[in-house]
Amino acid sequence: MNSENKRIAVIGAGVAGLLAAVHAAELGAEVHLFEKMDRIGLKMGITGKGRCNLTNSAPIGDFIAKTPGNGKFLYSAYGRFSNVDLLELLRSWGMETVTERGGRVFPKSEDAQEVRHLFMRKLEETGVQLHLSDPVHHILTEDGRVSAVQTSRGVFPAEAVILATGGKSYPRTGSTGDGYRMAEELGHKVTVLRPALIPLVCSNAYCRELQGLSLRNVKLTISAGGRRKAELQGEMIFTHFGISGPIVLSLSDQVSLWLSQGHAVTGEINLKPALSEEVLDKRILRDLAKFHLKQMRNALQELLPHRLIDVILHMSDIPSDLGVSELTKQQRANLRYALQHMPFTITGTRPIEEAIVTAGGVSVKEIRSSSMESKLVGGLYFAGEVMDIHAFTGGYNLQAAFSTGWTAAEYAAGKADEA
Ligand SMILES: Cc1cc2nc3c(=O)[nH]c(=O)nc-3n(C[C@H](O)[C@H](O)[C@H](O)COP(=O)(O)OP(=O)(O)OC[C@H]3O[C@@H](n4cnc5c(N)ncnc54)[C@H](O)[C@@H]3O)c2cc1C
Repeated sequence: MNSENKRIAVIGAGVAGLLAAVHAAELGAEVHLFEKMDRIGLKMGITGKGRCNLTNSAPIGDFIAKTPGNGKFLYSAYGRFSNVDLLELLRSWGMETVTERGGRVFPKSEDAQEVRHLFMRKLEETGVQLHLSDPVHHILTEDGRVSAVQTSRGVFPAEAVILATGGKSYPRTGSTGDGYRMAEELGHKVTVLRPALIPLVCSNAYCRELQGLSLRNVKLTISAGGRRKAELQGEMIFTHFGISGPIVLSLSDQVSLWLSQGHAVTGEINLKPALSEEVLDKRILRDLAKFHLKQMRNALQELLPHRLIDVILHMSDIPSDLGVSELTKQQRANLRYALQHMPFTITGTRPIEEAIVTAGGVSVKEIRSSSMESKLVGGLYFAGEVMDIHAFTGGYNLQAAFSTGWTAAEYAAGKADEA
């Protein structure tokens, strides 16, 4: 087939669909990009707190490791279009980037809107025909191959379709999960959808009391069903419903899985993970000696953030107004224990609509990892979060969307061998 005339329908003008559309058009295909919202890249515009964490500077092995949701499936796509390739491409389009702590790469302007505008320009330059406010309802097939897409405005014939409708979170950006239904209509299996990278809801009243307090360099340990365990050290924050922040989001994938399997999930915060029990005890004794004329609530200010003091004393069975000199050995042991084992019970996650990414999606077992083509329907390709892939924060989700979008474009355009 002559790819100069190949007609490709891309469904979804998000991260994956935008790059897929631009690249397929560059390769000579006639590309129609269908977007249900009245603007492109709405989710892209809110990524990285409005700064858009485009990718990461880590080696590809780290990308796989940071992708608990089917990372290995992405090897080929990363081989075809890596983080280095993405940065070279953006540079060639005139966008400068900066690399920050943890290898996170952002536009130098620190403005996610710059990325959206860049794609708008590239859509125009490459002649992609953009159909805004035109949601696709069904993908039509003939003899086991895609033949067209059906929208409210009519039926558009296409020789290849790239399904890039994203996940199910932040529905106001347009990702409402339509792609799962369309894939299922064509016989694809969609694995259980659940939130990943999601704050956790706790039943403990103290979380609400501490709302807004963020902690650095603490260790969070989470257990499920008494056996499964995960831990991470870093930054977290208390909220009106429970806990959030970087280490909570990273652990939330496992927590959401365990909860979906019906396990009771509990956890502990170690406020002093760098200190052994013995060293911590010495540290407490030093502070008690220094503040020996004070009440307990005024003796821990060098050890703890102000707002935590009463909570920790309560957990240690120590009245806040107890004189330091009256503290018993047992109470000191309680205090030491509470500092390293602050307990909480997780009752759930926030709803999937609030998740950074959706875990689950179109089963990757039915997609060729080399090309992103469906194993069930000829000419049907997948790109981005609609697939059963999800990664941690750090730019890994955007890179997965870019790499799979690029790969799908090359195969859909019939130009994979030339690239
Ligand atoms: C608040 C937030 C911050 C994030 N920050 C980062 C970050 O900094 N770095 C990072 O790597 N990841 C980040 N992510 C995750 C990342 O944004 C997603 O993984 C990524 O956008 C997925 O790309 P996608 O193209 O698959 O889907 P999307 O970008 O969600 O695009 C899907 C598109 O399909 C359209 N669509 C849906 N149904 C239809 C239909 N029926 N017809 C036509 N169009 C349709 C939608 O309107 C949407 O435009 C963040 C996510 C959130 C929610």
